[in-house]
Amino acid sequence: MRKRIAVIGAGPSGLAVLRAFETARRAGVDVPEIICFEKQANWGGLWNYTWRTGLDEFGEPVHGSMYRYLWSNGPKECLEFADYSFEEHFGRPIPSYPPRAVLHDYIAGRVEKSGVRAYCKFNHAVKNVTFEPETNRFAVTVKDLVGDQVVTEAFDHVFVANGHFSTPNVPYFQGIESFLGRVMHAHDFRAADEFAGKHVLLVGSSYSAEDIGTQCHKYGAASVTFSYRTKPMGFDWPDSFEEKPLLEKLVGNTAHFKDGSTKTVDAIVLCTGYLNHYPFLEDSLRLKTRNRLFPPNLYKGIVFEPNPGLFYIGAQDQFYTFNMFDAQAWYARDIVLGRIALPEPDAMHADSEAWTRREEALADAEEMIDFQTDYLRDLLAPTDYPFLDVDKVAGLFKEWEHHKAEGILTYRDRSYRSTITGNMAPVHHTPWMDAMDDSLEAFLRVREAAE
Ligand code: FAD
Ligand code: NAP
Repeated sequence: MRKRIAVIGAGPSGLAVLRAFETARRAGVDVPEIICFEKQANWGGLWNYTWRTGLDEFGEPVHGSMYRYLWSNGPKECLEFADYSFEEHFGRPIPSYPPRAVLHDYIAGRVEKSGVRAYCKFNHAVKNVTFEPETNRFAVTVKDLVGDQVVTEAFDHVFVANGHFSTPNVPYFQGIESFLGRVMHAHDFRAADEFAGKHVLLVGSSYSAEDIGTQCHKYGAASVTFSYRTKPMGFDWPDSFEEKPLLEKLVGNTAHFKDGSTKTVDAIVLCTGYLNHYPFLEDSLRLKTRNRLFPPNLYKGIVFEPNPGLFYIGAQDQFYTFNMFDAQAWYARDIVLGRIALPEPDAMHADSEAWTRREEALADAEEMIDFQTDYLRDLLAPTDYPFLDVDKVAGLFKEWEHHKAEGILTYRDRSYRSTITGNMAPVHHTPWMDAMDDSLEAFLRVREAAE
């Protein structure tokens, strides 16, 4: 009987799985039947922007954490697909830091061309997944949100690709319930214009805090205050920025920090990260991890060791994104196709434990980049994914780190060379700080006009 595969989520990770199997099918391989369940109306995951927050029109939690004016926070050359360059998609080289809509177009263009839309069931939310030892299959219960029907089907493999930057981690701070301004988590942040003229406090010191803070500045916030738990970001912030130790309490609209200092603010954005959240998986199938580069009990960062019929794609923290999801999808596909054999459970665990131990010893961002580069190298070696020069990509990541240190408001004006085509990206027509329109049309059209 033909095997059946369920993919949960049609974001970049789930789409990588579809592309991997379709590539094999087009090469004449007999591949399993695949169904990709996506709870949103279209594919693209986080890159499929929604204005909604809270619950969607069906009462489901809104997945989207992206906002208007979101531009790539890393060079596009670091995430470029090895089998589909930006140049192939746009017909010419484009600048290195595209806005969200341009990246969504790129992701969607590849899968649209490979004809995998037929494998997707949109507006279908996976509600429950259990494993049945008698049949060695998974029972996947899905709600058709438009048809308002719940159906359970059997699958031989499940690929969990639901993303892990959607369920907010929301700590409590004394007095926050009495704060008189706007309080939200980064997951619900949609547009920086709302904070024009306001004094904004951002709790957290990672990418969300950094980017939402600079967005608020770009769109006219009066001041930006960051509050860090572990260490400050330490960039060359403009004068209206401050970095403070952890928020201790709020008294009215005055924030009190651990060092005894205070700041009166109008709004608070909790940029305190996300939970790896898999509410649809029974306990024995559920990965339990914080956001880290190598979650435990995942052989090759993909295979769920307690039940190796289950794969997780994109479950780790990410320097690499789209091309890492591809590397994972190609590897997992080859396990399913019998091209890669899984070792005995003890050997799988020894391998993943060595990676988690190595991760725990990493000292800085450069070591983290090298770690994830080695991880990609390990995944890519046995598959037929087109050549990706990970050493060159690692070099670009390190350059990017330096460019951010040199100018947190100007690093997006830099250009990098594609490792796929060898061509240098053109400089964007407008410095990022002055580019207020983040639409695809503005990014491409104005560029043409300027040439
Ligand atoms: P997602 O993109 O989250 O997609 C998961 C999909 O699963 C969604 O479509 C969702 O609707 C679906 N889903 C969830 N639950 C269910 C269910 N129960 N049933 C059915 N479907 C379900 N990366 C970069 O490379 N560059 C960037 O500039 C960048 N910016 C980012 C900005 C923000 C604010 C965030 C939060 C992340 C950013 N990322 C960025 C990282 C991002 O994680 C990846 O780019 C990528 O979107 C991850 O893909 P994914 O498919 O794993 O997850
Ligand atoms: P993150 O990288 O996991 O960082 C979480 C932050 O929250 C850390 O600074 C952490 O502090 C802090 N934190 C957690 N719990 C806390 C608590 N109880 N009290 C105080 N601080 C707490 O999450 P993220 O910054 O949301 O980034 C998630 C992903 O989104 C990343 O992949 C990033 O690249 C992406 N992103 C991209 C863009 C873009 O511009 N394109 C914008 C935003 C986000 P510690 O350091 O002390 O742990």
